[in-house]
Amino acid sequence: MPRPIEALIHPDALAHNLARARAAAPDAKVWAVVKANAYGHGIERVYAGLAGADGIALLDLAEAERVRALGWRGPVLLLEGCFEARDLELCSRLNLWHTVHHDAQIDMLAAHKTHAPHHVFLKMNSGMNRLGYAPAAYRSAWLRLSGLTQVEDITLMTHLSDADGARGIAHQLEAFDAATENLPGDRSLANSAAVLRHAPHDPRVRGDWIRPGIMSYGSSPDYPEHDIAHWDLRPTMTLRARIIAIQALATGASVGYGSSYVAERPMRIGVVACGYADGYPRVVPSGTPVLIDGMRSAIVGRVSMDMITVDLTPLPAAGIGSEVTLWGNGPNGSVLAIDEIARAAGTVGYELMCALAPRVPTHVAS
Ligand SMILES: *Cc1c(COP(=O)(O)O)cnc(C)c1O
Repeated sequence: MPRPIEALIHPDALAHNLARARAAAPDAKVWAVVKANAYGHGIERVYAGLAGADGIALLDLAEAERVRALGWRGPVLLLEGCFEARDLELCSRLNLWHTVHHDAQIDMLAAHKTHAPHHVFLKMNSGMNRLGYAPAAYRSAWLRLSGLTQVEDITLMTHLSDADGARGIAHQLEAFDAATENLPGDRSLANSAAVLRHAPHDPRVRGDWIRPGIMSYGSSPDYPEHDIAHWDLRPTMTLRARIIAIQALATGASVGYGSSYVAERPMRIGVVACGYADGYPRVVPSGTPVLIDGMRSAIVGRVSMDMITVDLTPLPAAGIGSEVTLWGNGPNGSVLAIDEIARAAGTVGYELMCALAPRVPTHVAS
């Protein structure tokens, strides 16, 4: 028997979550963002859940080829654009739309012999200071691009740094609106946090194309302020394992490396076939939640490479073979949001999904 751990991918939940994005911005088209191998889920595994999207956005050219190989005929957008001139040949061949965020990309396009003109997303740096033209340089970049025979149309695009938090998006919206005034073309601004928190009441945020990523994968972009239940999102990845051993601790006995957890009363401990080599974060403290046969319990002691120890004291029916949900869907409709584990680890759901280890057998849930 293989080691009892697996990850399950839920494409139907992804379809539901994408529908939530569309409902928040019903007048906009939806890019399903599948970069980083669909946030660690596997593009091929989630593909069935993408059917309701208007386009697929990513940034790795090899991933764009995989999306085309799966049969996707709709738009595909490269979020970071081309890295070198020959990437444009692939854009022409596979009909990829691409972002332009600096002059060398315009130079490459101007020198490119294309069969059909390209759809270009021109990116403005409206304050995040990663990619894009400063507002003052944006119009001249637009003018230069619009004069190229290689360009079919230009979508005006920016990325928001604080859609999930206190600073908010007003300063970036203002910069974007001022610099794009009277420029024709579609607009695209919203990531997941902007879709859920701002798009419903602000048509400028909705624009013509939204770009939901993390919300599609069942993680709340503004957790802990709002959880996935609040946003009506469903987990798209379940990590589950089984209990492979039981220990009885006397008062004063410890468990795991460093004896970091000492029992204050007699305890029953379950040893779970999951550790940090599976992608479960080592840094989480005792008390981090798990589901055992769908009921909440907690980790005790340190996470080790291949094992985690959990408290079974309140669950006398649990034993060897009991199902342990590390995150995602448990039995009988129970849910443990990945955001709870991410929070305990001092990170975000994005990082945990992307870090699921290759050694974990991963299946599409039926
Ligand atoms: C990753 C990404 C998104 C999606 O962001 P989420 O926070 O996952 O919704 C949208 N736009 C761009 C440009 C991105 O790189």
